[in-house]
Amino acid sequence: MPENIIYYNNPLLKCKCEPITKIDYDIVQFSKNLTELMIKHDGIGLAANQVGVCKQIISIAGIEPFKEPIILINPKIIEYKDPVVTYEEGCLSFPRLYLNVDRPEGVIVEYFDLSMKKITIEAHELLARVLQHEIDHLNGISFIDRISTTKRNNIESVLENINRKFNG
Ligand SMILES: [Zn+2]
Repeated sequence: MPENIIYYNNPLLKCKCEPITKIDYDIVQFSKNLTELMIKHDGIGLAANQVGVCKQIISIAGIEPFKEPIILINPKIIEYKDPVVTYEEGCLSFPRLYLNVDRPEGVIVEYFDLSMKKITIEAHELLARVLQHEIDHLNGISFIDRISTTKRNNIESVLENINRKFNG
């Protein structure tokens, strides 16, 4: 099991993650490790490719209405809800970088749980935000891809620092 967070400029952050076709022991174990790692780093969401595994798995924790951490397999946004709102986001792959990102306030998401049961949820506010951020990761999109070119240019040196510090 790998289970170390990868950081900005690692090409795996851009991978388009493969859907899961079958839940086996390794997937269950990986999901547990993903959740533990996220909690250890005080995260509320973590995508599999953020630990270098290009599979469609995300873990979220500490967000209402879920009391326990949950694993989402093959999550897909099937509907967006207006309005678009701006909110500050962070990302474990971009330590200490916080960006205001515009996203729809709500989403309807379909996913499978670890028993491959299909679940549909309507999410708003923080949960909708985290789901969009994490599902973006599975599609190779990071939050820096969701800001304007001008803002992106303004954080270039911060990104360079992350790259130097965390990728050696
Ligand atoms: Zn992230």
